[in-house]
Amino acid sequence: MWGGVLHHVINEHEWIVSIGSTGSNHCHHGPLAENADEEKEWLKKNSKAHSVLRNIIFDRRFLKKIPFYLNARDTGELENFQQQILQYASKRFAYTPPVYRARNRLAAIDHNIHYSRNINKNRHGEIMYKRIYNKKSGRWIASPLKVEKTYPHIRELKKAVIQMRLADEVGMYRPMVLEDSDPRRISANLAPVIPPPVSTLVQEQIARRS
Ligand SMILES: [Zn+2]
Repeated sequence: MWGGVLHHVINEHEWIVSIGSTGSNHCHHGPLAENADEEKEWLKKNSKAHSVLRNIIFDRRFLKKIPFYLNARDTGELENFQQQILQYASKRFAYTPPVYRARNRLAAIDHNIHYSRNINKNRHGEIMYKRIYNKKSGRWIASPLKVEKTYPHIRELKKAVIQMRLADEVGMYRPMVLEDSDPRRISANLAPVIPPPVSTLVQEQIARRS
């Protein structure tokens, strides 16, 4: 996929000879926008820029390091954040899009605001640890215990909510208008076909059973 970049940049999205024994012979992106050609210029095959790029893509030292980076990357923080999102938006409930977005934002604020908080130390000034079980690796690890969260933003948010209510001249009893970006504007449900009336469905099902 990495080597395919050399083809992609010259507007070649399928090629005959695959790169390496397991390489693919086409780009993995979907159809390009129709005006893709106008928006950005493609490189010319074997031009200076293209051959310089080839040297970068196939740089031996760089290629050798790739497995290291792929394995060494630490997804722990990302997993923490995913857990955080689940605390705010449990999968056991259904949310409307604005509610889901708001809950994700709360999770993000919580994560960002508490991310670099201090590590807890005991009376002797030693770092305190807690045990965490990693499901993926099946191992227990010790992780530094951070000081308790303080949620300083909640107070500010509450204040802002009350201020908005007080300054709102229309009140809460107006009909709700969907935001421009609300996905329900596109479709009330995700089925690609328009649903027939319920009565028709019932008739069909009875007919099928008899
Ligand atoms: Zn491509």
